[in-house]
Amino acid sequence: ADDAPVATTCPYCGVGCGVLAKPRGPESAEIKGDPEHPANFGRLCSKGSSLGETLSLETRLLHPEIRGRRVSWDDALTTVADTFRRTIDTHGPDAVAFYVSGQLLTEDYYVANKLMKGYIGSGNIDTNSRLCMSSTVAAQKRAFGEDVVPGSYEDLELADLIVLVGSNTAWCHPVLFQRMVAAKKRNSRLKIVNIDPRRTATGQSADLHLPIRPGTDVALFNGLLNFLRHNDKIDFTFLENHLGHYAAAFESARKAAPSLPAVAQICGISEDDLATFYQWFAHTEKVVTAWSQGVNQSSSGTDKVNSIINVHLATGRIGKPGMGPLSLTGQPNAMGGREVGGLANQLAAHLDIENPEHRALVQAFWNAPRMPTKPGLKAVDLFRAIAEGRIKAVWIMATNPAVSLPDANAVRDALHRCEFVAVSECESGTDLGAFAHVNLPALAWGEKDGTVTNSERRISRQRAFLAAPGEAKPDWWIVSRVAERMGYGESFSYRSAWEIFREHACLSGFRNGGGRAFDISGLAELDRAGYDALKPIQWPVNVDYPNGAARMFCNGGFSFAGRRAELVPVVPKAPANPPDAAYPLVLNTGRIRDQWHTMTRTGKTSRLTNHVPEPFAELNTNDAVRFGIQEGMLVRLESRFGQALARARLSEDQQPGSVFVPMHWSGPYASRGLINALVNPATDPFSGEPESKHTPVRIAPY
Ligand code: SF4
Repeated sequence: ADDAPVATTCPYCGVGCGVLAKPRGPESAEIKGDPEHPANFGRLCSKGSSLGETLSLETRLLHPEIRGRRVSWDDALTTVADTFRRTIDTHGPDAVAFYVSGQLLTEDYYVANKLMKGYIGSGNIDTNSRLCMSSTVAAQKRAFGEDVVPGSYEDLELADLIVLVGSNTAWCHPVLFQRMVAAKKRNSRLKIVNIDPRRTATGQSADLHLPIRPGTDVALFNGLLNFLRHNDKIDFTFLENHLGHYAAAFESARKAAPSLPAVAQICGISEDDLATFYQWFAHTEKVVTAWSQGVNQSSSGTDKVNSIINVHLATGRIGKPGMGPLSLTGQPNAMGGREVGGLANQLAAHLDIENPEHRALVQAFWNAPRMPTKPGLKAVDLFRAIAEGRIKAVWIMATNPAVSLPDANAVRDALHRCEFVAVSECESGTDLGAFAHVNLPALAWGEKDGTVTNSERRISRQRAFLAAPGEAKPDWWIVSRVAERMGYGESFSYRSAWEIFREHACLSGFRNGGGRAFDISGLAELDRAGYDALKPIQWPVNVDYPNGAARMFCNGGFSFAGRRAELVPVVPKAPANPPDAAYPLVLNTGRIRDQWHTMTRTGKTSRLTNHVPEPFAELNTNDAVRFGIQEGMLVRLESRFGQALARARLSEDQQPGSVFVPMHWSGPYASRGLINALVNPATDPFSGEPESKHTPVRIAPY
């Protein structure tokens, strides 16, 4: 019936909940959780259920603009295409870059990646997923040979022990947390352990909270690996059958975490609590360890993730019901972006840019004139290259690096100096828009059509239920029309998201020798009606798994030669910048329950802004006394990079020596300064992910 709701997906976190949306005029909709979507079975959190109140067009960018002046689409597209063409002709393909987003749909991402890597011939396309889970990507590739999440959300309900590391799941992946709480009610054996320097809403509901010293995760999990070995809990049959190397990882764990008391001391927690955790882990078969940005956003994030994966591989607790490592991705389509190669060091279809065979394969499939032979620049380095004039033209899509990247003032400075900045955006008046030479109006959630992949490898359709407002267009359309104007018309003649999806699915199966997990060739023949009706499905989808796969690797089948995995030796490393006398506190930034990223949508409804109306700085009461700060006082935070104001909140949940500030306030909401202006730009050497959880700062009453 015409009045039937449209089944789509929530555009916020990586849980990827199904949503039923019924338009109520052009700027509002009735929103319900989709009871048939396997991510949420009808549940929604506060952000998802408020989606209908965030659809106003009042602040939308509805027409193309050049330097703030309304122009035709043809003028805007031709300006972008001509400027990129001229820059490439004069300075080479590495003088241009795209910076894209986990907010893009897979089809948008696919086309942008194809244009940059196959036609412009540079690796310089990176994504804000770099700030989110690239450490997990690097670690999964080191362990499994491919970026694969082995399990499913259902495992959280089948487990007897859930270990949540560096994750305030209750606020940042709320529907998953609701599923855990419901599972706990049904299963009295189920215990939840939260490992997090802060005691958050998640820690408050956990059976055990381990407030480890920031940055000591590797010591904790190395210690666990030792403990498992000493307690005869290692599955040597699994290791012998399915792993390449593993002895070195045991040896490095033995050296780095020699005893339980030593680990307790390194981590700054009680021996009793640590022993309880180790005992629970050792004696519970069904364990899921899930982690999020507290692990990823670190200068040793990749090692941290490998230390977690190691204990699951070593016990063979992987890919079986109720067991396995589970990365909780921050963004709605960070995973889809990974599948199409949206990171600067990837090709499409989980293939490697540095592998000549992979390059040749993708080049042949795309019929591409050129391919980069080396990875492009990762986010932080990419903006540094802009500041230094090595990149002269950048196109930023669906993200706001002027707010969200570390050392945000330096990023602004880089954008200010850049010869040409094109911005694809839904909103007008963002901090980024001020730097744009060309603003390209993109469709927003509710108007877009395509697919996303959530944290459990589940591909879901995002479907439009509102008409495109003004002259706004899909991101894939904007990229394709620029590609046509750059002279690549034949390869970018797409007229629908469906055509792009089919090509993407086809490429995933177009590989010599196979042996890689990401394969959705079973969806390559979908006709338009089939694509429109596509039900949520977990990849791989191919002849072996025609209905998708809930779990992988239970019987090996990894992606290294011989279908093997690796136990990666890891040693603890201190955060890049330690606190000192001048900057004695450690700043940790993160999300709050009711806001999303830079607030361009969630800032539109009082139902969400009422939860926390202004930026706050949460610190321990001892530190408050030390720095003369009282509850509710306005305080100035300062690092070597920048400063911002916030309202003091005193709490015993915050470790002495640390301060937490939410990351969201931007644009008209950020009159007191951006917190990311303070954040240090140190990055992980493998993943390039910034250390957003550990910046030395000082604090004083304002
Ligand atoms: Fe949306 Fe995440 Fe909330 Fe689900 S849990 S409704 S995906 S924000």
